[in-house]
Amino acid sequence: MRLLIIIPALLSYISNIVFSQRIMEHIDRGVIALNPVSDSVFISWRLLNDDAQNITFDIYRSARSGDTVKLNSLPIKDGTWFIDTTANLNKKNTYFINPSNKNPAFSNYNSFILSPSNAKKNYLSVPLQIPPSGELYGEQYGYTANDASIGDLDGDGKYEIVLKWEPAITRNPPRPGLTGLQIIDAYELDGTLLWRINLGRNIRSGAAYTQFLVYDLDGNGLAEMICKTADGSIDGKGNHIGDKDKDWRTLDPDSPTYGKIVDGPEYITVFDGLTGEAIVTEDYIPDRYPLDGWGGIGGNGRNDNNGGRADRFTAGIACLDGQLPSAVFLRGLYGRTVAAAWDYRNGKLSTRWVFDSKDGDNPYSGQANHQISVADVDNDGKDEFCVGAMTIDDDGQGLYTTGLRHGDALHISDMDPDRPGLEVFGIHENEGKTISLGTPGVAMFDAASGEIIFSIGPGIDVGRGVAADIDPTYSGFENWGGPGGLRDVHGNTISYHTPSSANFVIWWDGDLTRELLDRNRIDKWDWKNNTTINLLTAFECESNNGSKATPCLSADIFGDWREEVIWKTMDNTELRIYSSTIPTTYRFCTLMQDPQYRLSIAWQNVGYNQPPHPGFYLGEEMEDME
Ligand code: CA
Ligand code: CA
Ligand code: CA
Ligand code: CA
Ligand code: CA
Repeated sequence: MRLLIIIPALLSYISNIVFSQRIMEHIDRGVIALNPVSDSVFISWRLLNDDAQNITFDIYRSARSGDTVKLNSLPIKDGTWFIDTTANLNKKNTYFINPSNKNPAFSNYNSFILSPSNAKKNYLSVPLQIPPSGELYGEQYGYTANDASIGDLDGDGKYEIVLKWEPAITRNPPRPGLTGLQIIDAYELDGTLLWRINLGRNIRSGAAYTQFLVYDLDGNGLAEMICKTADGSIDGKGNHIGDKDKDWRTLDPDSPTYGKIVDGPEYITVFDGLTGEAIVTEDYIPDRYPLDGWGGIGGNGRNDNNGGRADRFTAGIACLDGQLPSAVFLRGLYGRTVAAAWDYRNGKLSTRWVFDSKDGDNPYSGQANHQISVADVDNDGKDEFCVGAMTIDDDGQGLYTTGLRHGDALHISDMDPDRPGLEVFGIHENEGKTISLGTPGVAMFDAASGEIIFSIGPGIDVGRGVAADIDPTYSGFENWGGPGGLRDVHGNTISYHTPSSANFVIWWDGDLTRELLDRNRIDKWDWKNNTTINLLTAFECESNNGSKATPCLSADIFGDWREEVIWKTMDNTELRIYSSTIPTTYRFCTLMQDPQYRLSIAWQNVGYNQPPHPGFYLGEEMEDME
């Protein structure tokens, strides 16, 4: 939408089309049917970017072969959803979506089967296979389902789920102590377990450690999984990586590095998405040494030599050459930051570039967040890697640093439709001796130049913050977290009453403003009465990551353009995928075909999970601009 605002952006967009062809995955019609109440079935599906602009749809239902009936009388043109009130829900019903005015097709590509076992549910259930208990300190420990990612692992146009299991004994740096084993599974949406990877005793378990990326890294139509590995990691076929007999953990309980891994090799491995087999393993870049080389001006400004700051990782997928994706793995947030971009091509893994901020004299040190974002900030078809208070250009050179230092959350989108380009909203940590630096707790800056648009709260520590369009009476994204209550896109206070959470945001109820996603709830900011109202509570489900209270994943997984959310059940026996069954008058292409949004699903599980944002303005005023 921002392309319509100024001519230079439009020219740059045209040059994109001519010179670069970013390879995007092929996904199917994404049909989903849910039967939340009585005999009413809500069916929704994807609008795809190669659909004709004026496409209309027909919907068919079959309860057994030979009795296929068309359900709509007029072509469906206003949305990509339909409500069926005539189905016999004691039978297995298959719904087919077809473009009108074409011979209908009846295939796996454009259908969904609603079975009687899924009737009377407002979610899709994905049964899980809980890993067997492990043993540590002579005690048994169990597993809870944790963060998830999605990708088309088998190339059929439907997403599968990759799930990280969290052992009951897990520790984040700087805490010492042994941890349980880190296990990662892949499931079909019907609960079929595709593979299980055990990262072994030389990978510590905790949110700071394993950042797993699921993406089609070589553009062959099948998604891979890439993550950090170590001696003794076991792939999906039971093969060991490195030396299976090595134990690199510090086992002396009196050592400051007890339970940590501060010796031995570190690897990065690409796993086959279909089988979990380790395809290629290389030495991780950079190594951890010197152990005391990772402190600096981020956070509280301190340093350590006990495997704390040396073992902070983030990662993301970025399209750096304008065509195929690269996996960028990053080490160090508080001082030195090293990012290595890896290309997986023809079965080989090689480094495209390595960015190293080295020491405190470098203005790019101490600027990295607990999470990253990826966006094409200068609109040239190649992505930049947004690390927090600094951004790395597609060629691995520093693009700019704001000097605002480390923080826990940042958000990038076209937040101000009246201003060209993308904006970044972030919050920042001011602790201990860094309070005196007086850097702002909250700031918005231009994503292309780093120019500060507004900043507030010098020296104030802000741990939570989010930006989204939640109030249609103010232009663009609102933002909250830190001083000043609920603010407009210019940083002016709208209300000292704030929404009940500053966590994830989600398009759910069918309007253009975004709803709030926190714990096992979806809520809506009632901007007329300055209060929050509950839209959905997922009973029997719970969120992940303690006080972070994040879902396993939130993304436009299937159905119409609105976002789904995956929660785990409290007993860890299933994942539940909730999809909106509220009618909407809007019809947009699936968000997963927006490059920035798709990449934000790949990094969502990394560090302190944050919600995805598209690379264009999706909000209340967009109608006026069309
Ligand atoms: Ca698939
Ligand atoms: Ca692939
Ligand atoms: Ca770019
Ligand atoms: Ca607004
Ligand atoms: Ca959806």
